[in-house]
Amino acid sequence: MQGELGVITPTIVEKGKYAEVVPLSRGDLRLTYEIPKALRPLLPGTLIIVPLVGKREKALVVGVVDVTDVPAKRIRQVSGILSEGSVLPPDLLKLASWMAGYYMAPLRLVVEAMVPAPVREGKGEKRETLIEVVRPIEEKTLDALNKAAPRQAELLRFLLDQTQPIGRNLVLKRMNMSASVAESLVEKGLARCESVSRVRESYQDGLDAEAVLGSGPPDLTEEQDAAFTQLESVRSEGGFSCWLLHGVTGSGKTEVYLRLMEKTLEEGGQVLFLVPEIALAPQTVARVRSRLISTGANVVVWHSNLSAGERADAFREIGAGRANVVVGARSAVFAPFQKLKLILVDEEHEPAYKQEETPRYHGRDVAIMRAFEWKVLCVLGSATPALETLYNVRAGKFGTVKLTKRVDDRQMPLLHVVDLRRARASGKGGGMFSPLLREKMTDRLEKGEQTILFLNRRGYSTTALCPSCGYVVQCPHCSVGLTLHRTDNRMRCHLCGYEKEAPTYCPECRSPDFKWKGSGTQKVEAAVSKMFPHARVVRLDADSARKRNHFRAVLQNFRKGKIDILVGTQMIAKGLDFPNVTLVGLIDADLSLHQEDFRAAERTFQLIVQVSGRSGRGDRAGEVVVQTLTPHAPPIQFARRQDFDGFLEEELQLREEFRYPPFRHLIRQVFQGRNEEKIWFVAEKWAENAEKSLGEEVEIRGPAPTPIEKVADEYRVQLWYFTSAVRSTSYRLAKITQEFELPDGVKMMFDVDAVGLR
Ligand code: ADP
Ligand code: ZN
Ligand code: ZN
Repeated sequence: MQGELGVITPTIVEKGKYAEVVPLSRGDLRLTYEIPKALRPLLPGTLIIVPLVGKREKALVVGVVDVTDVPAKRIRQVSGILSEGSVLPPDLLKLASWMAGYYMAPLRLVVEAMVPAPVREGKGEKRETLIEVVRPIEEKTLDALNKAAPRQAELLRFLLDQTQPIGRNLVLKRMNMSASVAESLVEKGLARCESVSRVRESYQDGLDAEAVLGSGPPDLTEEQDAAFTQLESVRSEGGFSCWLLHGVTGSGKTEVYLRLMEKTLEEGGQVLFLVPEIALAPQTVARVRSRLISTGANVVVWHSNLSAGERADAFREIGAGRANVVVGARSAVFAPFQKLKLILVDEEHEPAYKQEETPRYHGRDVAIMRAFEWKVLCVLGSATPALETLYNVRAGKFGTVKLTKRVDDRQMPLLHVVDLRRARASGKGGGMFSPLLREKMTDRLEKGEQTILFLNRRGYSTTALCPSCGYVVQCPHCSVGLTLHRTDNRMRCHLCGYEKEAPTYCPECRSPDFKWKGSGTQKVEAAVSKMFPHARVVRLDADSARKRNHFRAVLQNFRKGKIDILVGTQMIAKGLDFPNVTLVGLIDADLSLHQEDFRAAERTFQLIVQVSGRSGRGDRAGEVVVQTLTPHAPPIQFARRQDFDGFLEEELQLREEFRYPPFRHLIRQVFQGRNEEKIWFVAEKWAENAEKSLGEEVEIRGPAPTPIEKVADEYRVQLWYFTSAVRSTSYRLAKITQEFELPDGVKMMFDVDAVGLR
């Protein structure tokens, strides 16, 4: 994270006559309005309505002053107030301005990302509408509905699975349906709605209590103690600093966080604890909650499934200083703290910290920014830190402490790399399992120990090719192949959602030799079940986890030993701690290695180390089998030896050669539209303008097609900017944007410090 600080310094004169205002639609303007007596005092951070070129516009008060040099006759009056007082305390106001500039995002979208809608709109009401089925529903009603209105049938089936009324808007949002679908069900008398006062505790969603093992806090290991002592002395000294807690998987990083949090709470400070995805970190969240709640702390879990009202509630609790710990995913970084004293970012290397829609901010980087503003300690924890972070450690910007051993002298797992070219398995298992992996799985089943199989691709088969005519099954709307889903024998596009019944012969030449190839998690699951008919096999991926609570239920069953083999995607790659897992199989390490992304090696290294981290966390040593066609690829070999420094050396050298991040920042610009020629034309023209305006310090690459050239019938072309000074580059790019007239049918976006590069 680099970048200069924001441009807005809120001026606060409580009874001031004039408001300095930024219209939400025009983040670049700063205007002065008079505050009518009735609306005084007006605080910075308040959302108001002002007249602007003949319209009424929403605007944010960024400062309040007594005198202004704007001539009196040009000053107009504030028309009204939108929010109930200030929604953004001064530090968040500054942050909003910094984000709008750094990430080139409209201030309106930044404010929307920061402040929950009900708070923005000054709605105090905490009501929500629940929906439930009017039982009983007969099978034939459902069948008829299925034919006449499949969306309604889908919703009805979902509601039938629920044991109690459920938030209507949440369900509609999750199922991506419009309100009319629910209304129709209600009109037909199949469902009913009811408006209730919201339950305050619901933001503390019942989390996996069983995940909490043991009772009192354990004695720290020597390494933990050293790390804690160092960090605690930095923390208690006060002032901004950023530290990397680099601890191997199972080294007890969470325990170090907990101690730091306890100390902070003793002093009456607030803590922000960020995790990449709440739903995927049930164990961590449960541990933090149970430990801290027992000390009387008020812990808010900032869940992505919170309704707008719940979010607003949590927001108010924190703002009032009643909640002292906030555990949450990236958007929790905007919580309006009163006395923030510590920030922790767990698994700081995770791409999930990057928001992939405007404002495209990085949760970790914004967290560091907040720590800077509050002058407090920020701890970044990971077993596989991002190269950007390691680079900052090397440059002396961040401090670092290390945990090199697992707790209780548990061994790091033994890692086998299997060359799939030689071991190309035959017969059973469809070539997915090397003899070594099969042998080890058999052994674990005999011993009653558990196995995790990992493959980062869902569905059954992923490519289909006709040997007679060469026809390849592709999405008609995107430049990717379709994936076969065996569960309902349909093929789907994982990008745009297109789906169709899977053909059994070639749609082009009708050849029956037409075959599906490539494996996804469904195929792994099927092959394992066939190989070991008596084993209890369960699959966990985005398809199976669509059902409410499925993820948590499966993890609970796995913990209880009711599952022998767990098959899954990246969902199960990280953070989970199951003592009885002694074998992890990475079915295809090449998937992440051969992506068109300069971070492919880094991701592969991280993936192997993280996946291995799930093995051997109990008293028995663990093993890992990594299958690959390229066994000598450096990330695989470095991961096998757990050689972080070696990997870092080599990878940094490569990055430096090409001047890729972390040596420079990458700003990615994507043009998108249905007319391929037109977007190329626009991109070329942009590049010309940019070249003139940006000068020599910024290197421009492109225009070039994005790795996936077409998504949902829109073509995509990109430009890359490499720069050492994001702020000034962003500023100039924003200027070009203002002057450049994008033709109809062409969309454009910027992604500063881009992570996802598809
Ligand atoms: P990491 O986050 O570094 O992968 P965890 O914090 O999940 O590791 O710790 C791994 C396991 O070790 C957990 O089950 C935790 O309860 C346990 N543990 C942590 N510290 C200690 C300790 N000092 N003594 C005993 N067990 C510990
Ligand atoms: Zn054919
Ligand atoms: Zn598609």
